[in-house]
Amino acid sequence: MVWGRRRRVRAALARAFPDEWRHLLEDRWAQWHTLDTAERAHLEDLIRVLLVDRYWEATRGFRLTAQMRVLIAALAALPILGLDIDYYRRVTSIIVAPSTVRLEGPRPAGNGLYTDEPEAIIGQAAHEGPVVIAWDAAEEQAARPESGRNVVYHEFAHKLDMLEGAVDGTPPLDSSAAYHRWVEVCTLEYERLRRGEAGDLLDPYGAENPGEFFAVITETFFCQPLPLEAEKPALYSVLRDFYRQDPAGRERHARAGQDPPPWWEWPSPRS
Ligand SMILES: [Zn+2]
Repeated sequence: MVWGRRRRVRAALARAFPDEWRHLLEDRWAQWHTLDTAERAHLEDLIRVLLVDRYWEATRGFRLTAQMRVLIAALAALPILGLDIDYYRRVTSIIVAPSTVRLEGPRPAGNGLYTDEPEAIIGQAAHEGPVVIAWDAAEEQAARPESGRNVVYHEFAHKLDMLEGAVDGTPPLDSSAAYHRWVEVCTLEYERLRRGEAGDLLDPYGAENPGEFFAVITETFFCQPLPLEAEKPALYSVLRDFYRQDPAGRERHARAGQDPPPWWEWPSPRS
């Protein structure tokens, strides 16, 4: 990191996190409510670093507001809450589009093949290139984790996968034991998904290839941790060990800490 960047990061961290941004996260991002005070403070640091130390750009004709950057940075920061900002060393720039992006022209289609079929996407993570995010999808999915989908978690997971070069569905793991367990558990679930025998929880798009599988299970891990833990405990545990966080535990804790439902939400008596 060059001196100018370091100074910018230090200066950003020295400023208070604006209340306006905190209110935005409270209003627009469901997972914010599951974080405790220390986790929120750490996330606010990561957001500030991502805002000042990455290149943010809008597609032509689109105006990228501070609110959009803050919400996308918050979503991007959640997966590295238990890791380190260095895990995003391959994220150099984030390009935000208002909505779906249409891809045209010849481009790699995986497995050494090329395609020139037009395709509409809501996100993309290019090898050695930017992360592209469709704002309307990111905004909607931030508020509705029950959909199980989140384009920001998905594309940033690809960037974690790319840390060791090949996009093979395996992010950097601590030990060879962790690596073997990862491969064993993920291969089993990936094959189930390919056969259409994995149930409804995981997005079938994860069956495309192991890279997409990792991005898809990351979405489920952060959006629907309780169902994932209940239905696929082994898969949940390898993700928990890699990400060094336990979103299911966090959600249980947040729910337990909630006040009883107000009287107008009590279940109606059975007659
Ligand atoms: Zn993908």
